[in-house]
Amino acid sequence: ETQLNLKGVSVTYGDGHRALQPTHLSVARGEFLVLLGASGAGKSTLLRSINGLVRPDGGQIEVHGLPGGAVSARNLREHRRRCAMVFQQHHLIGRQTVLANVLMGKLASRGSLASLWPWSRADKLQALAVIDRVGLLDKALARADTLSGGQQQRVGIARALVQGPNLLLADEPVASLDPATAQGVLTLLHDICKKDRLTAIVSLHQVNLARLFADRVVGMRQGQVVFEGLPAQLTKDV
Ligand code: ADP
Ligand code: ADP
Repeated sequence: ETQLNLKGVSVTYGDGHRALQPTHLSVARGEFLVLLGASGAGKSTLLRSINGLVRPDGGQIEVHGLPGGAVSARNLREHRRRCAMVFQQHHLIGRQTVLANVLMGKLASRGSLASLWPWSRADKLQALAVIDRVGLLDKALARADTLSGGQQQRVGIARALVQGPNLLLADEPVASLDPATAQGVLTLLHDICKKDRLTAIVSLHQVNLARLFADRVVGMRQGQVVFEGLPAQLTKDV
């Protein structure tokens, strides 16, 4: 069952730089795909084109058989709800609580500010349930900026999960963490995706982490896919 299908998707930025050459990629439901490549390889551009943060200048993207991208503001909102994103710098609001930050994930599927507040009891209970899943229930009312880097990324994951996505996109989610914390955060992300049969595309630059977690690895260099295979097939110089 195909969850995501990219057909010849390319991205050229406003300065004329082609960051993504026409790319074909098919991802199966429940697959944990790792995009592996050095900084500047085009991983972030590929992920952002999938959820509509970047507009491709060519090709087609289908999520679950439905076209993605900016068909209309309404479709784009629903598309982004389905494709939740986890960022390297988590983009949390430091002065807000963990709970408030996780509830922000619900903005993805809401249309107007008027519908945001007050949060319903059901919304809050759902947010607390995902906070519990990432192991931070005791921190739910702590300010986000009092948490460690690894804890903050767990909040970023919870904020993505509360959207109820069917595709999880994580852009270098562990790049700013020390190796042990990075492995812990990826273990958590991997466990949740496998338990929920959630499809994930995670960009990394460490070969050893790709080997540990990937079902399949797509290697990128200079805006192109240069490798596609099982983690066991990885050589050191990908
Ligand atoms: P525009 O479409 O308005 O020309 P761009 O898409 O080129 O804008 O750039 C969007 C943002 O990305 C800007 O904030 C810009 O500063 C930043 N940016 C521009 N060039 C690069 C680059 N080479 N790498 C990373 N970010 C860049
Ligand atoms: P990665 O995620 O693998 O580090 P990126 O997708 O961020 O790679 O970047 C791919 C290429 O596109 C790089 O050469 C980068 O400088 C360039 N780039 C990224 N964002 C922008 C932007 N907004 N405007 C112009 N160039 C960009």
